[in-house]
Formats: sequence, C-alpha cells, structure tokens
Amino acid sequence: MAHPHWMPKGSTRVAAVIGHPIRHSLSPVILNSAFRALGLDWVYVAFDVAPGEAQGALSAMKSLGIDGYSVTMPHKTDVARAVDHLTPEASALDAVNCVSRFGRLLIGHNTDGEGFLRSLKEAYPEFGLRGARCAVVGAGGAARAIIAALGRVEVAEVIVVNRTADRAARAAGLAGAVGRTGDESDIPGSDLVINATPVGMAAGDGATGADEVPFDLRLVRPGQIVADIVYQPLETALLRGAAERGASVLDGLGMLVHQAAIAFEIWTGEAAPVGAMREAALEHLSARCADP
Ligand code: NAP
Repeated sequence: MAHPHWMPKGSTRVAAVIGHPIRHSLSPVILNSAFRALGLDWVYVAFDVAPGEAQGALSAMKSLGIDGYSVTMPHKTDVARAVDHLTPEASALDAVNCVSRFGRLLIGHNTDGEGFLRSLKEAYPEFGLRGARCAVVGAGGAARAIIAALGRVEVAEVIVVNRTADRAARAAGLAGAVGRTGDESDIPGSDLVINATPVGMAAGDGATGADEVPFDLRLVRPGQIVADIVYQPLETALLRGAAERGASVLDGLGMLVHQAAIAFEIWTGEAAPVGAMREAALEHLSARCADP
C-alpha cells in the first residue's frame, strides 16, 4: 500500500545519488517510489558532486550518517578506490555504482551487471543463459558490468564488439575463459545481442539521435533476443527494427530499475517493489517526453 502523506522526520534515513551533472537523474523518482510503496521512513536525494570531489562526499556519508549512495558519472572509479571494502564485482570492474555503510565502514558494490541479468530474467524467464552465445556491442562502463556478469553464469561465449579494439579486448577479459573480441559478423549467430553503447539515445551524454542504430539491422535473426540498455527513448530504432525482423526485444528501463532495486535491497534489507519502481520511472519518462 502506498503512503502518499509521508513527511521526513528526525528519524528519517537518507540515501542519495552522487554525480555530475545530476539534475536529470531518474534515481530519486525510482528510489523514493520504492520507499513510499513499502512505507519506509527513508528519503532519497540527488547531490551534484563536482569531478574530483567524491572523497568529500564519502566522508560526508560517515559524518552525516547517510545510509546509501548511488554513484554515477564521473565518480565510479574514484569511489572504487576510496571505499573501505569492495565486493568482488566492484573490484573486478574497478567501478562502484552503490555504496552501503556498515558502521563507519563503507562498502562499494556494482549492481549494473546483476541488474541487467535480472531484467532479462524478468522479461524472458524461459530463456536459458547457460550455454548461450552472447554478443555485447560496446566496451564502456555499462558494457563491462554486463560482460563480467555474463561471464559468471556459464554462458558459452561473450563476444565483445567495439569500435576501439584495445578496449574491446580488456572488456572481453572480464568474462574470463568465455570472453573474446569479435565484429558484426558475430551478431547473426548470437542468441542474445546487447547494445551497450549510447547509439540511438535521443538526449544526454554521447547521444547520437534517436534514428541511429549501433549495427546493421539486417544482421538480426528471428528468435534472437536483442536488448538495448539505452532507455531514452524506450523503444530505440534498434529495438523497433529488431522486432520487425522477428527478434524478441528488451528495453533499457529494466536494467535501470533492477540495478536500483538491488541497491534498495542492500540498504534496507527488504525486497524491492520493482513494479512500483518501474511505473514511477515510466510516468516520469513520459512526462519528460511531453515537456523535456
Ligand atoms: P561509456 O563508458 O562512455 O562507454 C560507451 C561505449 O560506447 C564505448 O565502448 C564506446 O566505444 C561506445 N560508443 C560510444 N559512442 C559510439 C558511437 N557513436 N559508435 C559506436 N560506439 C560508440 O558509457 P556507459 O556508461 O557504458 O553508457 C553507455 C550507454 O548505456 C549510455 O547510453 C548510458 O545512458 C546507458 N546506460 C544504461 C544503463 C541502464 O541501466 N539502462 C546503465 C548504464 C548506462 P569506444 O570504446 O570506441 O569509445
């Protein structure tokens, strides 16, 4: 049951996202909807933290008693190097997107890869990742998290396709023995194809415009799952074209919601109300489209 009349009190616990720029972040909408849906006395705010200032934000977490941070650009690596302890995922990626506090100890997590896997499982529970051939287009922060997560779940192959070859090779290494680099010719034979570049994004950092696709749509085959982690627009040109060619598609909102849901669970110990979180994000995105 939702609790619309909640007000912050002296006892209210605080979580926040730190990043720069931050004012367009969807995280406050998603996390506050989760706190309200479960009637928890928590609030989530956004702090614009200038590049190079992450250490100060972490010290503030201890001195102000802030219970959780989401971490976004440009602080993910700085935070990974400044927290007291890293989970194996965050350590492998040298990037943190979620900080929890255990007394005065700060723990750095990375929930992006697991967030992607959960969104895939939610949308296609019958799809077996074990033994699947997966192509990841891109080798940046989000791609690396997905590549590492795929490497942990016994897929047959993780093929990294990226315009900069040495970044592709480093990212492929995160999947362990099943990782390798490839090119567009690997796409038709893959069971799961993931766009983890900003190509197709309508607005924001690295946006190319909504008409762009990250690879030739003629490479898509019926029966494949084609996922896009871009969520603005929700239906990218890639997903529209892939669906027209008979593929199953997965939009990027699921990953965004699930990586936040995992952070929520780490901080509160409660199961996240994923439906309410997704609904709040969708409502906010459609209002943003109407009045950007
Ligand atoms: P990033 O670290 O900057 O990496 C971007 C990657 O895309 C790099 O591999 C880059 O290739 C490639 N790329 C960029 N522009 C390209 C172009 N025009 N053509 C071909 N390749 C291009 O970015 P990121 O943080 O990983 O984010 C990537 C996208 O994922 C963004 O759109 C972001 O909004 C989205 N994202 C979504 C979620 C979610 O929860 N749904 C989470 C995180 C990020 P090079 O290596 O050659 O530079």
